[in-house]
Amino acid sequence: MKYLFYGVHWLVCCCIISVPGVLASPLTVVDLASDQAWRLSIEGGLGALTGALGQRLGDRLMLRTKAESIETVEGGFVVRCRTEDRDPTALRCRRLVMACSAAEAARLLEPHAPTAAEELTTIDSASLAVLNLGYRREDVGHNMDGFGFLVPQNEPDVPVMGVLFADTVFPHLAPRDARLIRVFMGGARDPDVGSKSDDELVTTAHSFLTDLLQLSGKPTMVDVTWHRSAIPQYHLGHAAKVTRIRAATAEIDDLHLVGNYLEGVSLNDCVRLATTMAKQLIEQRETQTCETAAEQATVVA
Ligand SMILES: Cc1cc2nc3c(=O)[nH]c(=O)nc-3n(C[C@H](O)[C@H](O)[C@H](O)COP(=O)(O)OP(=O)(O)OC[C@H]3O[C@@H](n4cnc5c(N)ncnc54)[C@H](O)[C@@H]3O)c2cc1C
Repeated sequence: MKYLFYGVHWLVCCCIISVPGVLASPLTVVDLASDQAWRLSIEGGLGALTGALGQRLGDRLMLRTKAESIETVEGGFVVRCRTEDRDPTALRCRRLVMACSAAEAARLLEPHAPTAAEELTTIDSASLAVLNLGYRREDVGHNMDGFGFLVPQNEPDVPVMGVLFADTVFPHLAPRDARLIRVFMGGARDPDVGSKSDDELVTTAHSFLTDLLQLSGKPTMVDVTWHRSAIPQYHLGHAAKVTRIRAATAEIDDLHLVGNYLEGVSLNDCVRLATTMAKQLIEQRETQTCETAAEQATVVA
């Protein structure tokens, strides 16, 4: 169940692109044959989604910018930021939504809400590596006629978490003469994966898949992407912990948290939480009679 979300990302895309009014530019849904209409992907990959959101924000979007610290001031917040190739900036805003990881939220909140920060630091997050392995079609004996497989917890000797037959699910992902296999490694069950090199992971994955998929050649394309501390672990008592975190942060007016460590890890959980939050903030703004500071964040230094 823990890994189910890997198998449902096409459904997730469906939920997101149907959110009305969120996106300025329409996303192009990949045209699949009608018998494959239950799957859905976005041309250009999921990055097209954040790209479309970014376009909507225009020059209000600050990329490669890290929030170094936050200060609470009369009528709002000042967020001190560092951008890769620019001088540090300070942004003033009336309301603040922190949409980063639990660990980063803990760091930023520590001076203002130490109890919440302490709770946030206890949320474990697992790291994983995603390997995209491309093979010549003739080097793959198995016909890969499925979405792939997930490895259950009672098979600890299997070195991967799951495998997606990427070009079976989305044929546009590979040229006709090639196969694309996406391998997930690491996670909470295999924290040691972080100490391995990309080459070691590729070798392990390839030798594991060789018998299973009747591989007769090495991958001709390899891409390894690390997602460190990316998957929060919902251990027993998580819901109560989230309630305590929210109670502690509620003491700071107009500060809000969203993210995958609160109400679900999947993309649709994150979008649902963020949408609810955005609606609440819009409603609040509409009922407020007295504006104490500019609604949009402004640069103050
Ligand atoms: C490999 C992988 C595969 C997945 N597959 C699926 C799937 O198939 N289906 C599904 O539903 N879900 C999937 N998920 C889960 C889902 O994608 C994530 O849980 C979700 O995207 C997390 O969204 P988020 O907004 O909480 O965090 P993120 O998307 O991580 O966003 C947090 C952002 O905050 C920024 N940030 C952090 N600190 C600061 C700071 N100090 N200042 C400024 N910015 C900061 C980060 O740079 C980042 O951009 C997958 C996750 C992974 C890692």
